[in-house]
Amino acid sequence: MTDALFRNFIDGRFDEPSATFASVDPSTGAPWAKMPAASEADVDRAVEAAHRALRSGPWRTMTATARGKLLVRLGDLVAANVGRLAELETRDTGKIIRETRAQIAYVGDYYRYYGGLADKHEGAHVPIDKADLDVTIRREPIGVVAAVVPWNSQLFLSAVKLGPALAAGCTVVLKASEDGPAPLLAFAELVSEAGFPAGAVNILTGFGQDCGRRLTSHPLVSRVAFTGGPATARAIVRNTAENLAYTTLELGGKSPVVVFADADLDSAANAVVAGIFAATGQSCVAGSRLLIERSVRQEFLDRLKRKAETIRIGDPQDPATEMGPLATQRQRDRIETIVAESLAAGGKLITGGKRPDTGGGFYYAPTIIDAGASDLACVREELFGPVLSVLAFNTEAEALALANDTPFGLASGVFTSNLGKAHRMARDIHAGVVWVNTYRAVSPLVPFGGYGLSGLGREGGLDAIRDYTRSKSVWIKTSDDPIPDPFVMR
Ligand code: NAD
Repeated sequence: MTDALFRNFIDGRFDEPSATFASVDPSTGAPWAKMPAASEADVDRAVEAAHRALRSGPWRTMTATARGKLLVRLGDLVAANVGRLAELETRDTGKIIRETRAQIAYVGDYYRYYGGLADKHEGAHVPIDKADLDVTIRREPIGVVAAVVPWNSQLFLSAVKLGPALAAGCTVVLKASEDGPAPLLAFAELVSEAGFPAGAVNILTGFGQDCGRRLTSHPLVSRVAFTGGPATARAIVRNTAENLAYTTLELGGKSPVVVFADADLDSAANAVVAGIFAATGQSCVAGSRLLIERSVRQEFLDRLKRKAETIRIGDPQDPATEMGPLATQRQRDRIETIVAESLAAGGKLITGGKRPDTGGGFYYAPTIIDAGASDLACVREELFGPVLSVLAFNTEAEALALANDTPFGLASGVFTSNLGKAHRMARDIHAGVVWVNTYRAVSPLVPFGGYGLSGLGREGGLDAIRDYTRSKSVWIKTSDDPIPDPFVMR
């Protein structure tokens, strides 16, 4: 497989790449495939194709119902190709196969959901407050969408952009991350097979500084949908100063998981493990701050330590593996630096904090740090890795203050058997998602997004389509009388 060559999908065709770069298998650290590096000229071609498809040709005149059917077909094709897509994602990003399979199987449902909604998104007729006028509000596609995604959960993160954008009638240029783009470039074959007209969906990969920058600042782009880190988000916002594109941002997090003494502690421990060690902690909703009620602190940490130390680490393609490598060496270097800094500043290592004995690859052991104080780097910064920072609290008010002591606000978890407490915490936590007695549940039916540095806008749910439209108000005079005094506003 080392010579596998992937191609960009532009204007309905797979391009022979003019430049390529090597993609690395994170479980070995060795290159395994060549990826196309889209140039600024490639981006221009893709955006121009998307713009043409928007303005003329079959996509423009296609009914919403027909667009919906194409999306449903795409969802069916994703579901029929789970095995291949999952294997590619696991190979290129190191995410374990049982997770990529399950997640991609669900991605099909996202396309079906938005396919079903395509012809149910209505405009309005206004009961206007003036005689002899008829006013309707049309909802039109906002235009060419630039969708930019990171390497983790990329089929999923693309579906929440492509689904509503295409349902609304937009056209899309989707940029896969330069880290692990294989599954999205393979997904392009399914877009082609589903029968989308040329230019409606373009999928390419390349680097942030040229390809990403050109795409998000392109004058023909009207809408940017970004998922990634806060630093890149700032660059994207600067890029959109050029085209004034309407922009949504789904960014990182430092999500708190609050465990009260009255919770089912075994269930909570499983949820905490799932929240921080699933996907090797490389999840935007990773529950990376455990806030534990002091009276059960030691008992709970003992359970967690036992569970963390029995996680099966290994080959991500093996269905028995529970934790794979990090996606990149850069990622592991950063985690090692922050963990070392946090331990030097007073954090106490409960478990992990080292590379496991795997003989290669970018592995890092499940790590738990008793942070003690909330100003440690491991408590404040998103690590995007399998590192849990623990803080203890005595009262509900203290738990809430700690939960909200972050500039992020993406997800959160609350574990308690007290209904009132659950409601109070759900109301007062500053985060776009609150999971009570569960963690890491998602659905196409439910909006998702963050507060503060975790982003702007929501993805998923009914309203997402609206975000890919703009309104047009149409005023029609219904009387045959001539216009009277021209100097008075109607
Ligand atoms: P990243 O921000 O480095 O890269 C994301 C994408 O942006 C890549 O495709 C990259 O090429 C592109 N990019 C980089 N510089 C650019 C520029 N100047 N202009 C335009 N595009 C540019 O993110 P990453 O390290 O690949 O992913 C990890 C981050 O993503 C974490 O912070 C994580 O929390 C976040 N994330 C958020 C969500 C969410 O839904 N909120 C989901 C997954 C990941």
